[in-house]
Amino acid sequence: MNNKRIVSGMRPTGKLHLGHYHGVLASWLKLQEEFECFFFAADWHSLTTEYENTAGIVENTAEMVLDWLAFGIDPQKSTIFVQSRVPQHAELTLILSMITPVSWLERNPTYKEMQENLAAKDLSTFGFLGYPVLMASDIIVYKAARVPVGHDQLPHLEITREIARRFNYLYGAVFPEPAALLTETPKVLGLDGRKMSKSYGNAIFLSETAEETQKKVMSMVTDVQRPRRTDPGEPDRCVAFTLHRLYVPDVERARIVEACRGAQIGCVDCKKILARCVVDELAPFRAKREELAARPELVGEVLAEGNRRAAAEAAATMEEVRKAIKL
Ligand code: SF4
Repeated sequence: MNNKRIVSGMRPTGKLHLGHYHGVLASWLKLQEEFECFFFAADWHSLTTEYENTAGIVENTAEMVLDWLAFGIDPQKSTIFVQSRVPQHAELTLILSMITPVSWLERNPTYKEMQENLAAKDLSTFGFLGYPVLMASDIIVYKAARVPVGHDQLPHLEITREIARRFNYLYGAVFPEPAALLTETPKVLGLDGRKMSKSYGNAIFLSETAEETQKKVMSMVTDVQRPRRTDPGEPDRCVAFTLHRLYVPDVERARIVEACRGAQIGCVDCKKILARCVVDELAPFRAKREELAARPELVGEVLAEGNRRAAAEAAATMEEVRKAIKL
């Protein structure tokens, strides 16, 4: 096992938003300084729910990787690759699917939950039921020591650990059981107060213009119990204030809390302050993204090198796997 190795992936949903940044990217930035990181675009995972509409996956992958690079995910430090360009993930998934009891997959808490949330899609497929097996392959094919996860993803990682354990029991010790590296991430709400998500249409994208961001911030829901400017407000009830906590400096934020509770500031002025802080913080990223976007060959080159490095590691593991199962 490589004690310093970490694997983490993101589905290519296109341009990233603030939720992605605070949820995953910010932790990747720190991890790449300390660990040997494998970061991948999980395009096969997109197929588990988007198999009817695959047209945007390649373009979305390129946009997402450009965001990663603009934020400082560094191809010199980390291996950045596309899952479907490393076919060993699929080979290992096939082998692991032979030893994974269906009951383990059915008890996966997100299986039923996602089927209910995405009721318009037919998710009663073999691939959707089996996606934890693909996820296990993504991780153990690199013999990763740790996987950055939030509390809600712990059950998935437990299935990966169980699958690795079962393989080792049946065929001999090949895989380490990856441990969780718990990442604390703030909850980022969208414009309407639901979780920020592209599919809810409530997201602020990292790469949009300053004007677009400003307009969106000004449309954010505030304290619904404060209908008039003269009513005292409560920041703890205010959707916009969840972003103040992330973007407005402490001193200015403390002043806002007091002024809101004392009805000394209106929501329009308050959100103007927030918009300025968000725009200012994103400005260096947006400038960098524009600079990188002017080099259309860049993402392709980064991915070609990352795919090559990832495939070499995965191929070495698969040699061991084939030997262990005597094929
Ligand atoms: S003044 Fe600011 S914190 Fe208070 S309710 Fe309005 S937007 Fe929210």
